[in-house]
Amino acid sequence: MNLATMLLDLLFPPKCPYCQKILAEPRAPVCPRCQKTLPWLLGREGERRVDFTEGCFSPLAYRGLVSEAVQRYKFRPVRAYCVPFGAVMAQSLQDRLPERADLITWCPLSRERLHERGFDQGELLAREVGKRLSLPVAGTLRKVKHTDPQSGLEEESARRANARGAYAVLPGMDLEGHIVVLVDDVVTSGATMSECAGLLRMAGAAKVYGLTLAQARRD
Ligand SMILES: [Zn+2]
Repeated sequence: MNLATMLLDLLFPPKCPYCQKILAEPRAPVCPRCQKTLPWLLGREGERRVDFTEGCFSPLAYRGLVSEAVQRYKFRPVRAYCVPFGAVMAQSLQDRLPERADLITWCPLSRERLHERGFDQGELLAREVGKRLSLPVAGTLRKVKHTDPQSGLEEESARRANARGAYAVLPGMDLEGHIVVLVDDVVTSGATMSECAGLLRMAGAAKVYGLTLAQARRD
């Protein structure tokens, strides 16, 4: 740890992203209490079927303190949360992925949303996961249609229609034979993820695995 980091830790002591209490161990991704009490998803619970993927892995359920933390990350926004979130996502991927991935990528924001927020939360998560697992990270997709936020749409069919045609593969992208990990913050119906994964498969990807921080209930 360098001096600048130590000073920053003194001035702005890192907080647990979930309960927002100051962390006794500043580099920990979660405080000991949340480590015990958060809705961690174990075994098959943390795997969701999503079309065009081999499944989507998520360490946490999207409820309570987890959904509040994701809301702060996206809408306040607290950019620094990409580090602790990426840490538990990397661990989840390492535990569940049955093979070595060639590339980590993400479901991108539209240009309008990116401008509004100042960062792409999926990209930051993908970069953090890639850094921790020493895997290459690259953008492969762009959002070509500015859609309504998926969170405002209840019905799975409405979410699918909203996501359809909303993304395109970046020009010149060749993923022939690649094992790709597709990152997003939350998976709900899987509409966005399957739309993006379908495009990656069309661009040649052999397999796509989804990875999100949290999995929302689909009712
Ligand atoms: Zn906590």
